[in-house]
Amino acid sequence: MTRKNETRTKPFSTDPAELGFDPVALRDKYNMERDKRIRKDGYGQYIDAAGKLSDYMHDFYAEPFTREPLTDEVEVAIIGGGFSGLMVGAALRDAGVKDIRVIDKAGDFGGTWYWNRYPGAQCDIEAYVYMPLLEELDYVPTERYAHAPELLQHSINIAKKYDLYKDTCFQTEITELRWDESISRWIIHTDRGDAMKARYVALANGLLTRPKLPGIPGIETFKGHTFHTGRWDYDYTGGSSAGDLSKLGDKRVGIIGTGPTSIQCIPHLGEASKALYVFQRTPSSVDARYNAPTDPVWKAKLKPGWHKARVENFSIALGGGYADEDMVGDGWTDIFRNIGGIVTGDIDELSDEEQEQVFELADFQKMEEIRNRAASIVEDQATAEALKAYYRQYCKRPCFHDDYLQTYNRPSVTLVDTNGQGPERITETGVVVDGKEYEIDCLIISTGFEVGSNYTSQSGYDVIGRNGTALSKKWADGFSTLHGLQTHDFPNCFFLGFTQTGVTANATHTLGEQAQHLAYIVAQAMARKAETVEATQAAEDEWCAVCDSYGDKTERLLEECTPGYYNNEGSGASKKGIFSGQYGGGAAQFFDIIKKWRDEGNLRGVEIK
Ligand code: NDP
Repeated sequence: MTRKNETRTKPFSTDPAELGFDPVALRDKYNMERDKRIRKDGYGQYIDAAGKLSDYMHDFYAEPFTREPLTDEVEVAIIGGGFSGLMVGAALRDAGVKDIRVIDKAGDFGGTWYWNRYPGAQCDIEAYVYMPLLEELDYVPTERYAHAPELLQHSINIAKKYDLYKDTCFQTEITELRWDESISRWIIHTDRGDAMKARYVALANGLLTRPKLPGIPGIETFKGHTFHTGRWDYDYTGGSSAGDLSKLGDKRVGIIGTGPTSIQCIPHLGEASKALYVFQRTPSSVDARYNAPTDPVWKAKLKPGWHKARVENFSIALGGGYADEDMVGDGWTDIFRNIGGIVTGDIDELSDEEQEQVFELADFQKMEEIRNRAASIVEDQATAEALKAYYRQYCKRPCFHDDYLQTYNRPSVTLVDTNGQGPERITETGVVVDGKEYEIDCLIISTGFEVGSNYTSQSGYDVIGRNGTALSKKWADGFSTLHGLQTHDFPNCFFLGFTQTGVTANATHTLGEQAQHLAYIVAQAMARKAETVEATQAAEDEWCAVCDSYGDKTERLLEECTPGYYNNEGSGASKKGIFSGQYGGGAAQFFDIIKKWRDEGNLRGVEIK
């Protein structure tokens, strides 16, 4: 990436006149904005969509059905049919595994893209790197940031190509996985009374899957229509994920939340509703998207291997590493490009402290650009000011959209900013902020998904390993794995996700690398006719020590952030946040470590029996 600027005489400046912004004033403002959002109840502010509120979980896309409980046996059970489970299935098929069963609570493959069909839903990472197995399916996305129907269809196409529909159990929720030592098999218990057996289990549960609700007093009393964005009710709104919400023309709509989901659906709600009230607690940073249809000339020139090269290049760019070219070159990698404008010479020659200062300055610069963008697009300057995000760009998932800010120029759209506090009450007829009730016909909840405070509360079920060891207990104080994928006392069990692994914003890259690694281990075990394959305690301890050696920096940065699910709502316990315990040396380095491990060929630290 561009990291040099030969025109300066000193490494970098902190002079506001030269920078065009005042770093000290901005740091103070960031702290002030964070502090006013910290709540005593932390993550406890959210409530489960259960009991009286269980309608928020309704699946609009599958017909209810009954079936007899299953007690049969498969070689590999994959829990989850999203991109993660699909990539595991594909990698296992490539490795020659015939007997695979995918289990998912949804009615089809797709995971995130099965559930998230809200208007405007699209990938926020470039589709050419986000969508997996493109060359394997001989497919090039139709646009740079593909929309939800294309992402769902791609999931289905992967499942068909790799024959993964065979033996699937959809609309089936896991209640417990239990290792049966006497037969060396996992027993899979579900909400349909199943007790299926599997030699191997791959836990591709996904992250952020269960809608969560804000515990705003009175939420259960609202008498109008209401639903969560993760379960969009098109019967009520009309239209489709392409928009055209034709039934909202006479409706007053309120939406709570202004995260990445809202940024994508609010332009459609603004266009269609008689009146739209957006209840904002914290603004998202919204940069330009510049989506475009795929250029046929570019597509025609793609050479075999293009996808892998682009995916890897993007993760290097996001990790701030060097590459000759920034292939994707979009808003995600801007901060790193900005560094060239801030520092003279090679950043690696600076001390750690100076490097941190340079990154902070590049971040300030990027966020100033984004704040100025709001001021230049939104006509009412009080609204524009309320839409400016005052925190570091990666404190929350950065957003990109070309119509979101423009929506506030519509006379029918009102931003109801709550000064970091959220609405005070929900009544039978509306939402109350600062003592004023905003009457609405429809309330859309866009407050995201359960993160939970540990792995099993997120997945929704416990895993009971050898000698009755419960995963919830083993990981109560943090992850403990070998390479994030295996853990001692849980033979033949593999964890996909963010556990002690190399994390990149392009989650499908991380998950794809894990799928390859998993398939390699399973293939090795099968070739050796093994009954069990399990991480040794010593290898696990060694990997934990490696992960711990990086931990502090990420956690400190997150703790300085405005509250959100990245830092466990700013509770000062980011060790329990979604990124806690990851391998901190960078995703690219992690992928290199596991590749070298495979190349050694002796399954170091893994016991095969
Ligand atoms: P998020 O958790 O990211 O955002 C939730 C929003 O709800 C925040 O703005 C939050 O504000 C707000 N909120 C929570 N409680 C209240 C309250 N009491 N009053 C007012 N506002 C409240 O959820 P999303 O569904 O937007 O996104 C979830 C994740 O899914 C994203 O972070 C992203 O990783 C992913 N995503 C990816 C997309 C893609 O294109 N690939 C698209 C959409 C989502 P506050 O910040 O103050 O907590």
